[in-house]
Amino acid sequence: MSENTETIFSKIIRREIPANIVYEDDLALAFKDVNPQAPVHILVIPKKPVAKLSDAESGDHALLGHLLLTVKRVAEQVGLENGYRVVINNGNDGGQTVYHLHIHILGGRPLAWPPG
Ligand code: AMP
Repeated sequence: MSENTETIFSKIIRREIPANIVYEDDLALAFKDVNPQAPVHILVIPKKPVAKLSDAESGDHALLGHLLLTVKRVAEQVGLENGYRVVINNGNDGGQTVYHLHIHILGGRPLAWPPG
């Protein structure tokens, strides 16, 4: 997928396609992954369309902090008290498929390490 085209996540933000949204504020949105890799699999995204982590700039300092605190908040909200994994796939070798920055929250079972 091109990094410069609008993504499916922009359409979720604008409510043009459905998603199971679990949290929203002025800067961020969190919704359930449509193809879950664990009993709990949620994506936290900025509303601002940053394509990938390596495109973030110094002006995104507060936004990136907000996204991580949103991860913590959502994980507590959905009851991941035994722990969880936080993943950002960045670019081609990172396995990124949707070019709108997103943080995966995976939990609800023990997760192996290292990843593939
Ligand atoms: P990544 O491979 O890190 O780019 O992750 C993209 C994630 O987006 C994958 O886990 C997909 O299952 C998920 N995904 C793609 N389309 C949707 C959608 N419409 N609603 C929810 N999750 C989606």
